[in-house]
Amino acid sequence: MSNLNIFKIGVGPSSSHTLGPLIAGNLFCKQIDSILQKIERIEITLYGSLSLTGKGHLTDKAVIWGLNNVEPRFLDANLQMEINKKAFDKNILNLCGKREIPFYYQKDIIFSDIFLDLHENGMCIKAFDANNNKLTSQTYYSIGGGFVKTEEELKQDDVEIDSNNTLIISIENATKALYLCDEKQINLAQLSLMYELQFHTEEYIKAYCLEIWQVMQEVYQNGINPAQEYLPGKLQLHRRAKGLHKRVKATTDPMGIIDFISLYAIAIAEENGSGARVVTAPTNGACAVIPAVMLYLKNHTIGFGDDEVINFLLTAMLIGSFYKKNASISGAEAGCQAEIGSASSMAAAAMASVLGAEARVACNAAEMAMEHHLGLTCDPVGGLVQIPCIERNAFGAIKAISAARMAMTRKSIPVVSLDEVIKTMYQTGKDMNAKYRETSLGGLAKTLSSVC
Ligand code: SF4
Repeated sequence: MSNLNIFKIGVGPSSSHTLGPLIAGNLFCKQIDSILQKIERIEITLYGSLSLTGKGHLTDKAVIWGLNNVEPRFLDANLQMEINKKAFDKNILNLCGKREIPFYYQKDIIFSDIFLDLHENGMCIKAFDANNNKLTSQTYYSIGGGFVKTEEELKQDDVEIDSNNTLIISIENATKALYLCDEKQINLAQLSLMYELQFHTEEYIKAYCLEIWQVMQEVYQNGINPAQEYLPGKLQLHRRAKGLHKRVKATTDPMGIIDFISLYAIAIAEENGSGARVVTAPTNGACAVIPAVMLYLKNHTIGFGDDEVINFLLTAMLIGSFYKKNASISGAEAGCQAEIGSASSMAAAAMASVLGAEARVACNAAEMAMEHHLGLTCDPVGGLVQIPCIERNAFGAIKAISAARMAMTRKSIPVVSLDEVIKTMYQTGKDMNAKYRETSLGGLAKTLSSVC
């Protein structure tokens, strides 16, 4: 499977709780296409983490956007408002954009406190006829980063591995990547390109990466020029990026660079927190880490042109694929270490790679960035992707830059490998109390429960 869609254009605030359910709605539209005229009612049940933090993460709205058959990249604020008005105020669902049926929020969306066995983020969509007979249903799992699997697909967990067996180059983990890089005398970006060429043309891959970068920069510009002063939701957080952008100036203090990196990350993460268009990288909660490091390279170093952008994203997506294949990029499954930690690890390797590091050094940068996110819990206050998420992106970016620099200046042989830290992250996530895995039942979400 190609790794390009580790980066995808979507909507905030959450890839697993907003983008995934939206995509599930799109998939259900495909399933019901031939029976659309018979359908008179749709029922959606949200389970586990999707239910517990679903309102703050806009899961309930996202599944309705998806059931209108709107693709994430075309969903702007106006269209969101239009669909919301129809569904939530006028009780009409424009099913698959083709047929209007009655829709009653209180009855047709069920928030269940049950956790399904296969994954923390489960949801089921059912379609009924005029006599309330069930016509069809599907259970979906939003497994992180906007990736969605049906129950059947998730049960055959080895679908991807099977398809990789038919490839000339399959890269399951960092060990294999390093072996191939040594054998072919190439770096991680070159290896990632070789891998992607099995699925797409070089022209397509490069254009895809440049479009992702273009959107990332637009999101930053939107973040420093927001239409609203406050973020949506009960916290009524004041947006900081606009003011910060005016205040941050070049200074003789060498540490002043940190203010710029924080600005880049906060601006993008605030856009995500507002439910605007962002690039999932590899998740929405962590969507600002990678572009903040790229903006740092573009604005504060020399020679970050199109080739470097493409190499950066190719390296980052390869590292991200190791987390996705061998662990998790879902906060509901393994805590924030799986989101901000993975993004930081991807950015560290990518930065090292474009600055000339060979594969072993870049993998060490990725390892260090994750090692120092191990144990990081997910405790979004009020179920919103705002506190601690926005600032956490800034710290993730700063740690990525530190890790890249540390790896590139180190002379000793690293003790911990990237694969070992990925395994440790996943095990730590599994050992983590469920309160700290995107349920808003523990940590800051619990301490601050009175303010929301
Ligand atoms: S705390 Fe981390 S994992 Fe949880 S919602 Fe925020 S960014 Fe995502």
